[in-house]
Amino acid sequence: MKFFGFKGGVHPPENKIQSENQAIEVLQSPKMVYIPLLQHIGSPLDALVAPGDRVLKGQKIGDSSAFLTSPVHSPVSGTVKSVEELPFPLMGRVKTIVIENDFAEEWVELKKNPQWKDSSKEDLLGTIREMGIVGLGGAAFPTHIKLNPPKDVNIEYLLLNGAECEPYLNSDNRVMIEEPEKVVQGIEIMKHILGVTKAVIGIEDNKQEAIATMKKACENTEIEVMPLKTMYPQGGEKSLIKAILNREVPSGKLPSAVGVVVNNTTTAGAIYEGIVEGKPLLTKVVTVTGKGITTPKNLRALIGTKISELLEDCGFQEEITEKVVMGGPMMGMTQYTLDVPVIKGTSGLLALTKSETNSCKPKACIGCGKCIDACPMGLEPIMYARLGEFQQWEEMGEHNLMDCIECGSCAYICPSNRPLTEEIKIGKAKLRTMKK
Ligand code: SF4
Ligand code: SF4
Repeated sequence: MKFFGFKGGVHPPENKIQSENQAIEVLQSPKMVYIPLLQHIGSPLDALVAPGDRVLKGQKIGDSSAFLTSPVHSPVSGTVKSVEELPFPLMGRVKTIVIENDFAEEWVELKKNPQWKDSSKEDLLGTIREMGIVGLGGAAFPTHIKLNPPKDVNIEYLLLNGAECEPYLNSDNRVMIEEPEKVVQGIEIMKHILGVTKAVIGIEDNKQEAIATMKKACENTEIEVMPLKTMYPQGGEKSLIKAILNREVPSGKLPSAVGVVVNNTTTAGAIYEGIVEGKPLLTKVVTVTGKGITTPKNLRALIGTKISELLEDCGFQEEITEKVVMGGPMMGMTQYTLDVPVIKGTSGLLALTKSETNSCKPKACIGCGKCIDACPMGLEPIMYARLGEFQQWEEMGEHNLMDCIECGSCAYICPSNRPLTEEIKIGKAKLRTMKK
């Protein structure tokens, strides 16, 4: 297969080297876990437990009858202490189940299915839902919905996103290096569900060990591994489809419109564990790095562990840290408290010092057009900024604002340091409110 590349993009300093050779370490189980009832794109969940209830490890504790949801499970055995609104890493406060760990490691009964090839597509999708599996590349879209595209579209390709194009992060990279068989088996399960024969794993060429490991693991399969020239934001679904298949997803459409379903490689590993081992999604590999960290690591942490515990384990130097970011530096969220938990979509925790952050003040636009050249979606960020100044939200929408994937490439490249992504996010939020 040929590499086609994608339009636009930027190449920020990679900063992967600090953590790329750190093997995954299992973080000690914490005394308390905090499970927010909204960890996916979609509707919040209802708590299925109440204070005082004893819960087992892997027990479902939150679910909803809404369409776009994915349940949550207790990552420990213990006692529910409270169900209350608590700080959430992505925004404000979210209803959260607080559980005290009894360290008994008492599991629910696991329904293993090593003979999954004998199961129907519907049964496998049902299990993926019950196991709480969502897209683990950061978007956290419920996987059972993604793997069930409209009946009238013909899915030809399953693409696996192993690009991990965000600087600093090595979470997917280490999973591909250390758990390649799980990833391959998860891909086979997805192919079976989708009824496709063609699957391609796209991995950026700054991850040579992952490329070699996955190529070896894919020998004697119909899964192809494609090295991709490193460029941000290659991991965006539409960029990846363009880079690997040279297909362009039309504005406002999903990848299924061009016969493709995209999933992340770590999600494939979670699908293997959910189906074959019967284990719900309870842990996440998190890269903890940045100059404010003395010992960068890739930690496998229980979902619900406070981020302060991960930072402390890696030698957090609060005094020199300018900001803590959950996720990568381009799309991650700055944290205003360390009293928030690891959630399903957490891939990284960055303790960034002043030298790693951009503190330059915005200046006037010089009309250089670099933001337009950098946009992978073919948009005109500067036009949105100008329309936003005059609160012309509808006009922003008419110019395909909702196609913006909030990758931050435009703001990164801007010589005048305009906060373009922030202005775009405000415009999108206003448009969503107007549509309600
Ligand atoms: S943030 Fe949006 S407008 Fe800016 S480069 Fe990315 S996709 Fe384009
Ligand atoms: S990159 Fe910055 S200065 Fe150049 S046109 Fe865009 S907003 Fe203006």
